[in-house]
Amino acid sequence: MKTDKSRALFKEAQKYLVGGVNSPVRAFKALGMEPLFIEKGKGSRVWDVDGNEFIDYVLSWGPLILGHANDQIINAIKHVSNYGTSFGAPTELEIEMAKAVVEAVPSVEMVRFVNSGTEATMSAIRLARGYTGKKKIIKFEGCYHGHGDSLLVSAGSGVATLGIPGTPGIPEELAQLTIVLPYNDIDAVEEAFRKHGDDIACVILEPVAGNMGVVAPPKEYHTRLRELTREYGALLIWDEVMTGFRLALGGAQELYEIDPDLTTMGKVIGAGLPVGAYGGKKEIMMHVAPEGPVYQAGTLSGNPLAMAAGLRQLQILKEKNPYPELDQKGKKLEDGFNYLIDKYGVKATVNRVGSMITMFFTDKEVKNFEDAKSSDLELFNKFYRLMLERGVYLAPSQFEASFLSTAHSEEDISDTLNAVEDTFKNL
Ligand code: PMP
Repeated sequence: MKTDKSRALFKEAQKYLVGGVNSPVRAFKALGMEPLFIEKGKGSRVWDVDGNEFIDYVLSWGPLILGHANDQIINAIKHVSNYGTSFGAPTELEIEMAKAVVEAVPSVEMVRFVNSGTEATMSAIRLARGYTGKKKIIKFEGCYHGHGDSLLVSAGSGVATLGIPGTPGIPEELAQLTIVLPYNDIDAVEEAFRKHGDDIACVILEPVAGNMGVVAPPKEYHTRLRELTREYGALLIWDEVMTGFRLALGGAQELYEIDPDLTTMGKVIGAGLPVGAYGGKKEIMMHVAPEGPVYQAGTLSGNPLAMAAGLRQLQILKEKNPYPELDQKGKKLEDGFNYLIDKYGVKATVNRVGSMITMFFTDKEVKNFEDAKSSDLELFNKFYRLMLERGVYLAPSQFEASFLSTAHSEEDISDTLNAVEDTFKNL
């Protein structure tokens, strides 16, 4: 594969941008390779600056559920941009977008838009602390909730990929307020509540984890977590930045039938523009300024371009209900992976929920971050490079989810499986 232009751009980028990128995972550092610079995308495909074409399963790390450069989304952005890009004053579009979110996610009675998933989770934690008057929070190993100080402890995603245990710059005093527990282990939560129950403001989690690779707890886990948080007066925050509008219109909470107190959203609601949101019970949300004393603000929050793109995407998702189709495509990929794993005797396990999928290079069942970490990372890296050479752009880390969009065709999936077969022969 020819990558001369990407290599030249990466060299240039490193002079001005830290590590040549604006988000660490993009640098492909853990893969021991250099990143590809992307020129354009359409549907299920992206093209790099050297003209290589890929079937894309990254989809900007999840948001492009309708694929790249969807005509209706692009037209919505074009249309609204004629009237100006930002006012820092309320606009009607924000109400429409808020209504669409509230209608789609039953636990969300009121919402506040922000500009990223990080902002959403940071703000939700602040609200939980402000509302309960308690300081400690519970998060789980391998879950990633953005780079807010309280949440960067034992995090997944790029933190896991780069093997960073804790980040300098986060005061020990603050990190101590974050209780980190193994994911998908209810006994650990029961014990933490027994010990610290009076001090716990909230439990935050990815209801289906994507940032340690895909891991889905059983329903009983979520049910018990809901009971425990109610019992101890702690808020339950579901971080649906990845799963919201992706696993179902109502997110993972529609699948699991759980009623969290607060929900954080991002990525998918912006259709590729910078949007995040947090929302939940009216009684709790009314503690946010200007109604209440918990301060949170944003100059560009509710930006018309982002609202127009997000709203159009939500409307299409509602009209089309693409979820059964996405699930069926996901199943085809999963079945194909499993068939080839068996056929070639590769030590690998596939986890999937709907259109989120990870192939872990371990023969262990993967139920938490410890299990995910038992994966053979060297084998993953080799597999990854070979797949790239065969025109398939998967999530570039063992600790990430690959995503499907409505634009992925049956043929894309067959081509992907052929590439996997070819790659397995050469592992
Ligand atoms: N929460 C989850 C579950 C995420 O997957 C991410 C991003 N991968 C975030 C929060 C942070 O979102 P952002 O990158 O938009 O700040």
